[in-house]
Amino acid sequence: WAGSGTEKTLVLVKPDAVQRRLVGTVIQRFERRGFKLVAMKLLQADRGLLDKHYQELLQKPFYPSLLAYMTSGPVVAMVWEGYNVVRSTRAMVGDTDSAVAAAGTIRGDLSMHISRNVVHASDSVETAQREISFWFQRDELVAWESGDRDYTYGP
Ligand code: UDP
Repeated sequence: WAGSGTEKTLVLVKPDAVQRRLVGTVIQRFERRGFKLVAMKLLQADRGLLDKHYQELLQKPFYPSLLAYMTSGPVVAMVWEGYNVVRSTRAMVGDTDSAVAAAGTIRGDLSMHISRNVVHASDSVETAQREISFWFQRDELVAWESGDRDYTYGP
């Protein structure tokens, strides 16, 4: 598993969650699962960054309101690393529409509406690589060995 244990994904704690003081709660869910935090920062995103991040959604009718929401306050951007982290993280985040997101998922537990759905997580390994490059410089990612590795993954 050694190689796939370095898979990375981008997670954003969106402005609603920062305002609602949910940053620590979101971080704790990924830490408890066993994933490794390799980059993190609080920032005010601007339109240029979000147009790149949401390039597939630029023509959608909801894009102007999504942009207003995502620029309404700071976000916390994070890179998490671990085995199957992209798929696992999407499962932990839950359905895009918080109204139908399963209980036990981050959106299902912490939010009610699609337009204020607390977090973003990359939807594929390729998307994750691209998104990480939009939000972080290469030297902002920290390579480190976690002491509990054998206990998290087995020998
Ligand atoms: N969104 C929205 N209305 C919609 C669809 C999406 O406000 O009808 C927002 C919502 O914040 C969502 C984001 O646009 O998280 C990106 O949409 P996507 O389909 O990529 O969902 P995600 O990957 O975030 O689950």
